[in-house]
Order: sequence, then C-alpha cells, then structure tokens
Amino acid sequence: MEVIRKHALKNALDFGKADKKAVLGRVLAESPELRGKVGKILPIIEEIVAEVNAMPKEQLEKDVKQFEYVEKKEKRIGLPELENPENVVLRFAPNPSGPLHLGHARAAILNDEYAKKYKGKLILRIEDTDPSRVDPEAYKMIEEDLEWLGVVSHEIIIQSERLEIYYEHAEKLIELGYAYVCTCESGAFYKLRIDKEACPCRRNDIPKNLEKYKKMFSDYKEGEAVVRLKTDLEINDPSMRDFPLMRISEHPHPRAAGKRVYPLMNFSVTIDDHFNGLTHVLRGKDHIPNIRKQRFIYDYFGWTPPEYIHYGRLKVEELALSTSATKEGIETGEYTGWDDARLGTLRAIAKRGIQPKAIRRAMMDVGTKRSDINLSWKNLYAYNRELIERDANRYFFVDGPKEISVTGAPGMEFHALLHPDFKDKGNRSLGKIKEKETVKFYLSSSDFENIKKGEFLRLMEAFNVEIVDKKETCAEAKFISRELEEARAKKARLVHWTLGDNNVKIKVVSPEGIINGYGEPDLKNIKVDEIIQFERFGFVRLDEITDDELVFYFSHK
Ligand code: GLU
Repeated sequence: MEVIRKHALKNALDFGKADKKAVLGRVLAESPELRGKVGKILPIIEEIVAEVNAMPKEQLEKDVKQFEYVEKKEKRIGLPELENPENVVLRFAPNPSGPLHLGHARAAILNDEYAKKYKGKLILRIEDTDPSRVDPEAYKMIEEDLEWLGVVSHEIIIQSERLEIYYEHAEKLIELGYAYVCTCESGAFYKLRIDKEACPCRRNDIPKNLEKYKKMFSDYKEGEAVVRLKTDLEINDPSMRDFPLMRISEHPHPRAAGKRVYPLMNFSVTIDDHFNGLTHVLRGKDHIPNIRKQRFIYDYFGWTPPEYIHYGRLKVEELALSTSATKEGIETGEYTGWDDARLGTLRAIAKRGIQPKAIRRAMMDVGTKRSDINLSWKNLYAYNRELIERDANRYFFVDGPKEISVTGAPGMEFHALLHPDFKDKGNRSLGKIKEKETVKFYLSSSDFENIKKGEFLRLMEAFNVEIVDKKETCAEAKFISRELEEARAKKARLVHWTLGDNNVKIKVVSPEGIINGYGEPDLKNIKVDEIIQFERFGFVRLDEITDDELVFYFSHK
C-alpha cells in the first residue's frame, strides 16, 4: 500500500515517530475511496507504522523523496502582515553589555522572520554609545548567539564607529536653531523644566551654541554640558521638554579610544534608523514614549519616520535575565559564568540542550502581541522534546543513590533497548551479576523513600523482588522472579537502578541546583554534546567528561 507508506514516512520524519491515527487521516484524505475500508487498512497501517518507526532517520529522509506531497498550508500564528511591506529593512539593536538572553531572542527572531517573510534586509546594530555599559566581549558573543539562533543579519553596524555622523548632525541641529548646548547645573535645569521655563542657555544665539559645542570636545567635563533639543516647554510630559541629545562621558570606551562626546539613545537611534534606511522598527513597548521624542528629530530634518510595531513585555519566570545583575553575580562568584544553568542567557539555554528551533517556535507563539505575556516553559519544553526525543537514547541514572541488597538472584546479564521506539538502535548493557549470596543495587533516593517492607517491586529490565527490611539508608530484598507479567499482574512499581559495583559517577547541573548520583556503565560510551534521556528523570546534555565523573546539564522532563 504505497499511499500508507508515503504518509507513514512523512509523519515519522515530521514528528519523530509516526502515529497510526495521523497516518490514517492523511491516507483517507488522499484516497477517500478507502473510507469504507478502515477496518481492513488499519492493521496494514499499524504494520507499516511499526516498520517506519524502526527506520533510522537517514533512511526516512531518503525514502520520503520517492513521493510527492501536497504541502499543508503553513499555520503562521502571531505574525500580522506589515504595513507597506516594500523593500523591507529591519534591525535588531542590542546594547553590548553581555550576551543575548531569551528576551533578546524574541526581538531577534521576530525581526528575522519578518525579514525572511518579505525578503527584506536585517541589520544587526550594536548600540554601544554608553561607554560605561559596554562589555568588550559582548560584540563577539552577540554574533555567536545570533548564529546559534539561526538569525541571519545582512549587515552589522556598530554605533561607536559612527560617532562623527552624530557629531555632524548635532551640529546641524544647532546651526538650524533647533538645539542648544546647556551648561546649567542639572538640578537648576530640572527645576526650571518643571515650571515650563526656559533655561538661560536656551536663549543663546547660534554662534554661541556652536562655540560651546566645540568646547564639549575639549574643555567641559562630564556632567557639565549637554546638547538639548528644543522641543516644547508646554508639553505635559516633563521628560519631553528639551530632552538631551549628546553628552560627555569620560569613561573609557573599548572601541572609541580618546572620544568623550556620545549621543544618547533617542538621537543615535533616529539618525541610524534614517540613514540605515529602516522601513519598519519592531521593538518592545517600553520604547513607545521614544517615538514622540524621535518624531521631533525627524521633523526638524524633514525626514519620514519608519513604521513602528511595539510588542508587550515578555516575562520569563524562574530564570534570571538582567544583564547587569548577572554580570555582578559572575564577578562575585555567585554564577559560574554567562552559561550558568540558572540564567536565561542563550548560552545557558544551549548548554541545557534546548534547540534554537524550539526557541523560535516559542517566540512565534508569543508573536508581536501588545499585551504582556509570560514565556510558556511548558510549550518551549514540549517543542524541544519533539526535536530531541527521537535521537535521545535512554539510560538509567539514580540520583541521591540509596543501597538495596538483593539475595537469592541467579547469575545473569542485564540488557535494555537504547530507544524503546527504535529497536534497530540496539541494546545497552546494564551489567551482569554472579550467583552469590547478595548483590548490591542502588535506587534513587525518591524511589527508596517510597518503598515499604513487604512490597513487591520490579527492578526494570531485571527482575522482581520483595522488600524484606528497610532501614533509613539501606534496604534488603529477596529475589522473586524475572517475569514482567507477574509484576504487571501485581501492579508492582517499576524502578530503575544501577549496580553497586559497576556504575559511573554522574553530576547533573540544573536550574534548581546540582544533583549527584550514579549512572549505568554504558554511559561511558556517550560523547560530549550528546543529548540523552535519563529514564524517569528527564533529558540531559553531556557537557563534560572529567577524571572521575560525567557532567550533564538538565534540559527538562
Ligand atoms: N538598543 C535599544 C535597546 O536595547 C534599542 C533601541 C530601539 O529599539 O529603538 O533597548
């Protein structure tokens, strides 16, 4: 039945595992004449589904090419059409104070999606005009993080390389009489501003302002002079009244040695959005008040502003996002680095084995909604699970190991499938025991806590035991039988284990802390970066092999 095979292959490839109901649905949609024969074709579907589920991915990819598929219309949620989407130019404009975190991922991914959707251009603009908030390492980290995310920028612009452009345009505004150099003591200026009154500097003529502007580059010290834009002293919002465009910072800049005059954000953003040819600006709604400020600059120069799209705040619960707090924590040793598992940086997320595609899907769900929204960890993890489940081999790991000694077991070897859905992947060896008085096993502390004297328990992939004694730190059990059916009939609990004398020391780093334990011997075969599933525990990524232990990072359940 070629039609069944066709859809089973595609289903397996799309979802990691073919599902008989999904395949049936596709088959009936393509061959409606089979509708009356569901009872007949279902066993065939089951057989073919089992067969394709046992095939390696490479084979599926090869076989699927024999067929032609009608693409289902792609469900695009969350991304409304742009207004006037001609020759679209967008930008992602982070401050280089550290690497990117999940909050940045939204801006980066949505801009990237729009650029792709309209075959436009995406500019990466590094906004580094506040020298006190520049981390010299961040430039490289941002590029690496974007590459990992799969965000393609077509041009990189670094604002500190454009200082002359801001200087020139500030001077132009002064020459046009729209800006002035204010040397008032800031307290005095704010007092006048509250009273909607002009400060004495506002009344200076253009030559005087130009002279003072020159002095900003040599004579005045930090805090002594700023260039202010003449807005409207009657505006309701005091922060809009004659807001500053340029200031002096004597903090050394890692990329602009010898410079001391810097634009403030609203000025550099406006100049660049104009000269970089931005058609659409997609950013967080905390920037809404800036539109009004920036509009003054556009109007004075006679420029047209881009279209703006503002989205709400993305709250990422449970993980720390603030770059400045993180930096401090790294310096004081509270965090191990930018990739500490407790952080929401993309580096930490990557270390935990979370795939960039899962982040993209989660961000597409969030979209450009105006209302504030929580990032759904549940969805992000579900997307990630779909991506990694198929390739993640299974292993036993017992956390907080507790001893259980079993008497009366015959000598035997233990094996289990590397992946229950893909038998072709083969077996792993869980070790062997000799027939002797007692054999030591380890159980995880949570399983150990739950066992009771007299309980009938199944050691997975091994045998059934009865607990004959339980103390605080160890238990004794006696061998009953090997039959899984017996355990099922008795509704025995199934627990995983490791052998007392053949295991690997394991450390799992998770956002909640460090978990230590023992893993089965075949874990020695896996490689750094491999993502596996610890049965009944969750997915983990191998990060490091040290002299005496394997260090994993926890992904999710
Ligand atoms: N660099 C600014 C920020 O990260 C972005 C400015 C803007 O989007 O207009 O907040």
